[in-house]
Amino acid sequence: MKVHGQRARRTVFKGGRLLGISVVFGHNEEMVFPDDEPIDATAVAFARRVLESASSVAVLSGAGISTDSGIPDFRGPNGVWTRNPGAEKRSTIQHYVEDPQVRRDAWQIRLQSDMFSASPNDGHKALVELERSGRLHTLVTQNIDGLHVIAGNSPDKIVEIHGTVHRWECVNCGARGPMVEALDRVRAGEEDPHCLPCGGIVKSATIMFGQSLVAADLMRAELAATEAEVLLAVGTSLSVYPVAAMVPLALEAGRAVIIVNAEPTPFDQHATAVIHGSASVVLPALLTP
Ligand SMILES: [Zn+2]
Repeated sequence: MKVHGQRARRTVFKGGRLLGISVVFGHNEEMVFPDDEPIDATAVAFARRVLESASSVAVLSGAGISTDSGIPDFRGPNGVWTRNPGAEKRSTIQHYVEDPQVRRDAWQIRLQSDMFSASPNDGHKALVELERSGRLHTLVTQNIDGLHVIAGNSPDKIVEIHGTVHRWECVNCGARGPMVEALDRVRAGEEDPHCLPCGGIVKSATIMFGQSLVAADLMRAELAATEAEVLLAVGTSLSVYPVAAMVPLALEAGRAVIIVNAEPTPFDQHATAVIHGSASVVLPALLTP
């Protein structure tokens, strides 16, 4: 958990940017973090000032914001897909559509999934505070857990770039509905519920491997990266494209970029500020009034 305070300073002042505010690099003694979170309070104070002085903030969130809600990272070294290739197969559209057994397994796993009972943590709640302050431009999330919606951010501010597990969709006619309805049908005995209007195969409303992202969602992400004064990337390794491209887009547009992540990312050296720590601890320190 290291903070690139020096680099942040250099990057910021090199271009004469930073939104015209003066920054005092002092230790903020009021900021107290848990002992197991050796977070650099100076970097947090700096990032907080950048955020406070911005009239609009775009957010990109990834799996790291939900790990403290008990939702595992699917792609990380200890991720579900990494440890269980069957899970990856169930998340691939071609296998899902072609193999009824894959679908029956997928429905049983959805029935047992912890994701439907997970609650937002302090990281999600801090982003609700950001919206209440009137400065949230767009919240783009790579997560399919729906926790930003449950926390209370407005659905029209959120772009769920990989979809959501809380809704089902028909691969044939595009009909959608609440996932609880489909799960009720599975509980009632249907092993592979099909679309009632058209008989098509039903899946969760997530982007599976082999499916394209929604063009309109990508466009909103791109606009957010270039329009907002600050891009705050939280809990994402910034390695999954195209959404990770929000960071270079923001940098090219001259925007401040703040990265909060447990691990280093490929963009740390270019960011205005980098804070290595968990989102549920760092975001309240950055965003709570
Ligand atoms: Zn249908």
